[in-house]
Amino acid sequence: MRKPRPGLPARVAALVAPWSVLGVAAVAGASVVAGVFDPGFGARWFTALVGLAVVALVVVDARARLRGERARRPFAELEGPVLWTVSVWMLMRLGGAYAAHLTPVAAALVAWLVATFPRHVWGFAVGVALALEVGLAVAGRQDFVALALHLALYAGAAVALTQLTRLESFRRRLTEAHAAEAKARAEEATARDFGLQTAQAPVLRSLPGPMDGRHTVGRMTLDYLSESFNLQLDLLRESLGLTTAAVLWRDADGGAMQLRGVSTLREDLVDGPYALGAGLPGSVLRDVREVAVAPVHAGFNGLPYYADAGGVGGAMAVAVPAPAEVMRGGDGQVAGVLCVDRAANQPWSDAERRALRIAARKLALDVATGQRLKATDHERSTIRRFCVGLQELNGALGLEQVADAALQAVRAMVPVDLSVISLVDGDVHRVVKASGVAAERYADLRFTTDEGLVGRAVKVRHALPVGGIYKGSQPVFTAGDKLSEMRSLRVVPLLKEGQGSEPLGALTVAARAEGVLGSPHEEMLALIAGQVAIKLGLARAHEQIRELATTDGLTGLNNHRTFQQAFDAMLGRADRRGGQMALLLTDIDHFKRLNDNYGHPFGDEVLKGVARVLATAVRKIDLAARYGGEEFAVLLEDAEPEGAAQMAERIRAEVEQLTFTHEKGPVKVTLSIGVATFPDDGREKATLIENADQALYTAKHGGRNQVVAFSEVARSVPARTSAP
Ligand code: GH3
Ligand code: MG
Ligand code: MG
Repeated sequence: MRKPRPGLPARVAALVAPWSVLGVAAVAGASVVAGVFDPGFGARWFTALVGLAVVALVVVDARARLRGERARRPFAELEGPVLWTVSVWMLMRLGGAYAAHLTPVAAALVAWLVATFPRHVWGFAVGVALALEVGLAVAGRQDFVALALHLALYAGAAVALTQLTRLESFRRRLTEAHAAEAKARAEEATARDFGLQTAQAPVLRSLPGPMDGRHTVGRMTLDYLSESFNLQLDLLRESLGLTTAAVLWRDADGGAMQLRGVSTLREDLVDGPYALGAGLPGSVLRDVREVAVAPVHAGFNGLPYYADAGGVGGAMAVAVPAPAEVMRGGDGQVAGVLCVDRAANQPWSDAERRALRIAARKLALDVATGQRLKATDHERSTIRRFCVGLQELNGALGLEQVADAALQAVRAMVPVDLSVISLVDGDVHRVVKASGVAAERYADLRFTTDEGLVGRAVKVRHALPVGGIYKGSQPVFTAGDKLSEMRSLRVVPLLKEGQGSEPLGALTVAARAEGVLGSPHEEMLALIAGQVAIKLGLARAHEQIRELATTDGLTGLNNHRTFQQAFDAMLGRADRRGGQMALLLTDIDHFKRLNDNYGHPFGDEVLKGVARVLATAVRKIDLAARYGGEEFAVLLEDAEPEGAAQMAERIRAEVEQLTFTHEKGPVKVTLSIGVATFPDDGREKATLIENADQALYTAKHGGRNQVVAFSEVARSVPARTSAP
């Protein structure tokens, strides 16, 4: 049956495609000569059209070059240089009166092309440049003197740069760099063909690059494979009387075969790559797993590694099974071909065929071993990273530190662009730590449970979204915020062990890349989140204990012990700096009566109300404490006597303004305050307390609801001790 002919459009497309880029370049070149880019040209839209087309192609070509891709079109290697050339001349014409200033750019381009590209590439591009120059002169757009000057300038630049690159030292450096690069590329290709780059334990596949060992282990494996292949081929050649024994391996992209090992007596071997279907190896790859010919017919050339197959009496090719299948005992797929030949033309014996089959399986087994070695190494380095991450986490103490260490561990193990830890208290979530892209946007962010994915995940106690797939459209933290540039997202609730406990918060990670937060990273994140939850639980308990130890349970103010410690510290500071400080002692007036009239619980409410006044009145550097019962103390850092008295007066007045509501009616309270300052009223803690107390006593006796400074007491006895 005949294959149907492709339709006319398809045939035209096939004919035009290889010429498309050069065609655009030709149109642009003709436009340059025709004056399309000169100032004053009428149809500006056409100028823009051609210009944009060229720029677009330059961008596409540059991107492909930077990625190391090569177009499969014929002439593809000419396209870039020709496009650059045309672009520069376009630019020069656009420059109008300033064109002369741009000539050095053209000269530099020509010189660079000549110095660095193969002769046929630069030859073509420079030919285009000359055609443009001459065309412009012939069309009368530049005079012949300018043409001559330009040509001299370009030639001079090209010669100068080529001479420079020919300098011995320069050349040596360049060759060394080229050689190293070529070697690295060849190694990489071999590793890829042998499946060594994808050889990873399934759970750990697609992790960010391991921190160590990659190149050394990769190279070790390659060396081992090459050595082992060569030994086996030598063995075969010696024992079977072969001329050449060779292993051809299929490319990773399946386009060709490469020579991956050889033992030979001949010196005229042709290095690969070889076409996939060529000769005996080709038929082995296609369907027959084994081909043996002896004696070979006249003109036989079924061995791609010989340019001239003369002298071959018998040849044989055996399939090398895919390494993974050999490990499983099967041999379905064909990964390579073991190919041998000899001068003798007697038929291959059964024993010889068997030996070759065994050798082929052994070669496959070698590659499989190499893959395992690589996978084991990868796993080892990942586990090491995991352990270091957990260790870091375990060493952390406070909330901040735990969050910090957790995000570090996440970053080391999962390829994320943003990671955030948030804690939840009731319905309110608060970000404690964010790292990565736009992290500062999330620092200290607050949001509620019903706003986004984080709230939902914490509420349902389940990681979201499924498979870590994110389209960039759902709100994540707050209702208004989407991570529009992210394509992978995972919100893992931080749950303490035991089903009943409340979630502590969430670990949220996001990545720009698609599909990187599904399995196995899903499991790793769950593992980290479990550890983080335990540590955060501990950190929280730690903070609670500290709070219990330092604050008063009823009023939330600092307790007596904290007051004593802070007093010591503040006195020490004032003493060292030669500064001042003040102590206020307060006592609620007739509090016993209040308790009696309204009940003890109401008395407690009053205590809390007065404590709130104190807490809000003092500055951050000051300290308000419950001194005991219905007595409060305030330490004022850096306060001189007048300032301290003013502060005391403010507190007194504010308490006086308070109105408490009881079913019997509104209730008012008042406060008496005694003030002592350092160093005027004493240098020791005990003296200061005693003197403030003395002042307070005086205030009580003076009618309550007032502030008395110790300096006034000292002047106006009676002091407490001498009181009746
Ligand atoms: P004065 O104006 O002289 O200070 O008269 P006062 O009644 O306030 O006398 P005092 O300071 O000696 O009274 C302290 C009272 O405070 C005694 C106690 O019943 C009450 N009290 C101490 N601690 C608490 C508490 O935690 N809650 C309540 N409701 N009352 C307390
Ligand atoms: Mg009292
Ligand atoms: Mg009292």
